[in-house]
Parts: sequence; C-alpha cells; structure tokens
Amino acid sequence: MKRLTFVSLLLLLGCENTQTPCTPPAAAVPQSLYHDVAALTAPPMMGRRTGTNGAMLAADYLAERFGAMAVTPWSGQLRHPFEYGPSFLAKSGENLVAWVPGPPPYRLVVAHYDHLGRVNGKVHPGADDNASGVAVLLALAERASQSSPSQGLIFAAVDAEENGLHGSQALARQLASVPLEWVLNLDMVGRPPRDNRAQLWWRQDWPEGSQALATVSGALCVEAGRRRMKGQDGVRYDTLDASDHYPFHRAGVNWLYLGVPPHKDYHTPRDQAGRLDYQFMAGILEGSWALLSQP
Ligand SMILES: [Zn+2]
Repeated sequence: MKRLTFVSLLLLLGCENTQTPCTPPAAAVPQSLYHDVAALTAPPMMGRRTGTNGAMLAADYLAERFGAMAVTPWSGQLRHPFEYGPSFLAKSGENLVAWVPGPPPYRLVVAHYDHLGRVNGKVHPGADDNASGVAVLLALAERASQSSPSQGLIFAAVDAEENGLHGSQALARQLASVPLEWVLNLDMVGRPPRDNRAQLWWRQDWPEGSQALATVSGALCVEAGRRRMKGQDGVRYDTLDASDHYPFHRAGVNWLYLGVPPHKDYHTPRDQAGRLDYQFMAGILEGSWALLSQP
C-alpha cells in the first residue's frame, strides 16, 4: 500500500464517511430471480440482440413465463410485434404485454429484454442489462397476479432498447389512449455500487415523484438519481433519454426509473449472471412492489 500522509489519510476517512454502505432491510430472494436471469443469459439466447434467433427465444421464454401466471394478455395477446426504422428498411421487434385488471388509472412496469448480442465475436450476455430488470418484472407480475390490486397493473417486457428505445416507443404509441398513473422503468437493477444504494429518477415536473422515493426507501437502499451520470467510458450522459422511460416522458406520462450507476462490466462480455447481487434485486422487487401496491 502506498504510504499515506496525515492529510490524505484524513481525506480518505472523510470520503469513506460520505459513502457509508447502506444496509437494506432483509428481503427473501425468490428462486425465480436466479432462474429467469440464468435462462435469459443462457448460451442459446446469444445476448438477445433484437431480430436475432436469440431474441426470439427470449420472447418465447417470456411468453411461457407470463402464460403460466394468472395474468391477462393485453388486448387479447401477450405478443405485440412492431416495426421501426424507415419504411424501405423496416425492422421488426416484439414486446410482451400482460396485465392484472383493475380500475384506471393503470400503473405500468417496463423492462427491456433485448441486449447487444455478439460484438467482435463475443457474446454479451446482458445479465444486469437487463435480464435483472426483466426477472424483477416477472416476479412483480407473479405477485400481482395473486393479489387484487386497487388499480390495473400492466407489465411490459420490451424489445429494441439498445438500438434506440424502439420497443418502448411502440408501447407508448400503443398505450396513448390508455389512462396511466405512472410508468416504472427497471433497467439494470442487479449490480449495486459500493455504498449499496440504488438510484431512483422521476419526472421533475411531477410533484408526487419525490413521494415515490420515500415509498421505495422503506424496502430498499436508494437515493435520488443524478440527471447527469458519468459512463464507464468517462463520458457524461443524460439519464433522461438513456432508457425506456423517455418515450413516456415525451408523451407526457409520469415516470419513475430505478437502476444502478454504470459499472465496469456494463456492455461487456463480463456482464454475467454470476456477478449479480440477487439479495439487492430482492430489495428492488420489494421497493417496486411498495409502489405498485400503495393505495
Ligand atoms: Zn444497455
């Protein structure tokens, strides 16, 4: 270890003090979190790049998972194909949407299931990005299906996030005339930072957004997310348009976005199932459920 001067030692102690790790409330970890992440990151899924066989296998898996629950397919079907891009070069993707009926306005949870596929010959399994969010979404849908919610709850696993938020754009268009109280986006919820705190962002002109932070805090170590974050490449990016809440923001819908700061394995072949913190994900599940189940 490098020798520390008295001043640098004081500085170091000061830093540690501001980053005191948070101890979350105890939460049971459902086995489904392990199973779903393992399935979505398995070799046949090939990193779930939109339009590939791997992404289709992932959609099949999600249809099977939703199909085994007491949830209702949205508009009579679980699978909602969409097209995106210029018409002469149109590409296709597929969202999976189910709900637990209840009175409006509805609450919507979204998590993207696509990832980068194979890059430079190497499969990027995308365990944190975003098998983690999808696994939590499925656990929420399962729990919701066994309850009678005070409002209708919609669950959407969306495609084509990585190449431009196309799945959530298609979903926002599809739900344009549906009364939504808010949408919760779960994107990268499996790798807590050193202080163990998740980050929650919300629509800034929505007064009740800060109350959501208090609600989630009862079940999870969490802090208000910073608008500008530094990516793994050191370049700052804007969290507003970084993920699937953005098409809803543009449509005027209130939104919440729960995630973690970028980490060194982000968008690399090392984003693997064995590197996730499932206890932390159980906290995300409980915090999200606190939001979904509040009167
Ligand atoms: Zn990503």
